[in-house]
Amino acid sequence: MKQIKLSSVHVGGNEIKYIERAINKGEVSNYGENLDRFEKQLEVFFLKKSKIALLNSGTSAIHIALIHLGVKSGDEVICQSFTFSASANPIVYQGAIPVFVDSENETWNMCPLHLEKALKDRVSKGKRPKAIILVHSYGMPAKMDELISISLKYNIPIIEDAAEALGSTYNEQKCGTFGDYGIISFNGNKIITTSGGGALICKTSKLRERTLFLSTQARDSAPYYQHSEIGYNYSMSNIAAGIGRAQMEVLDNYIALRRDANRFYQEFFKKISGIKVFKSPNSSFISNHWLSCVLIDKTKVGFNNEDLRLELLKYNIETKLLWKPMHMQPVFKDYPYYGSNICNNLFKTGLCLPSGSNLTQDEKKRIEEVITQFIFDKNK
Ligand SMILES: *Cc1c(COP(=O)(O)O)cnc(C)c1O
Repeated sequence: MKQIKLSSVHVGGNEIKYIERAINKGEVSNYGENLDRFEKQLEVFFLKKSKIALLNSGTSAIHIALIHLGVKSGDEVICQSFTFSASANPIVYQGAIPVFVDSENETWNMCPLHLEKALKDRVSKGKRPKAIILVHSYGMPAKMDELISISLKYNIPIIEDAAEALGSTYNEQKCGTFGDYGIISFNGNKIITTSGGGALICKTSKLRERTLFLSTQARDSAPYYQHSEIGYNYSMSNIAAGIGRAQMEVLDNYIALRRDANRFYQEFFKKISGIKVFKSPNSSFISNHWLSCVLIDKTKVGFNNEDLRLELLKYNIETKLLWKPMHMQPVFKDYPYYGSNICNNLFKTGLCLPSGSNLTQDEKKRIEEVITQFIFDKNK
C-alpha cells in the first residue's frame, strides 16, 4: 500500500524548465532571473503593499526580524506556545528569553487575554518585551484585531509567523501583512515549496535591502571584503527560486485543493459525534487549511488521538499529533509561561490528518474506510 503523507511536495509543472534555464544561463548562485521573478510574483500576491526579501528558510526570516527589532542578549520576546519550535528558536539564537503565551479555543492561536496578562506582568517587573511573535497555526488566522490593539497599547512590535498561512486572510487582508514583519516558509511540507526556503515580508524597500545585506554576510561596499557588522549566510539560491516560481503559478489552485480536503473531512466527521474538525470561528477568518485537524473526545468514541494515529499508521497513512506546546518542551520548560492549559489540551486530544493538495479521491476513500472501521470496532 502506497503511503498517504500528511503533506507532501506537489510538483506544479514548470519547475524543471526554470531550473534548466538558470543552469544554462550560469545563474546557479544567489542572484538571477528566478529570484527576481519569484520575488515579483510574491509582491503581486501580497498586493504590492509589502516588500519581499527571499531567504533560505522561514527560521532565518524570524531571526532577521528579531535583529531588525534590536533584540539582544537578555531581552524578552513574547512567543505563542502552540507552534513549531522554529518560531521560538531564533529568540534563543539572539541570547534573548522567550516568554510563552497560551492559545484560545477558537483559532488555536495567541490568546489576547493571556497576552495582555503577560505584558502587564513583564512590564511591572521592569522587563518590557521587545517583540511579540504570533502564529497562524495550521493556516488559521489569529485574532488580529485584538492582538494588534494590545500591541499598540503597549507599543511592542509584532512578528507575524505566517509560515503555514500563505493565502489565508483575516477580514480580507492577507496573513503576513499585519505585523511589523511577516514571515513565510517554503519548506517541503508547506503549501508551496522551493525545496527549502523562506521570505521576510517588510514594510519598506530599505528594510528589504537591509535584510538582503545581512543575509549575504553583511559585506560593506568596498573593492575588498570588509565587514562592519556580523552577517549571515541566509540567502536563497536562484535554483530554489526556480522551483518557487513554478509553484507560484499553481498556488491558488493548491489553496483550493487544501480547502477541498478540509471540506471532505468536515463532511465525513459530521456524522460522528466525538470527533470535531477544526474550523473557522466565523467568515472573517479564511484559512488556507494547510493541515486539517480534528479533536477527539475519548469518552464518546472510545479511543484517543494516539490510538487513531497508530491505527492509521498500520494502513500506511501518516498523521501527526498537534504541536506539543513550547512551554512543555524539555529545551524551553524553564522559561516563563502565561496561560491556562488550552494548548496543552489541544496537544492531548488533537490529530492532523493527511491534507496535501495532491490527496486523491482513492486516498480519501481509504482514510474514510479505515476510520469508519476503527470507530465500529471500538464501539461494538
Ligand atoms: C515551518 C515553520 C517555520 C519555519 O520555516 P522553515 O522554512 O522550515 O525554517 C516557522 N514557523 C512555523 C509555524 C512553521 O510551521
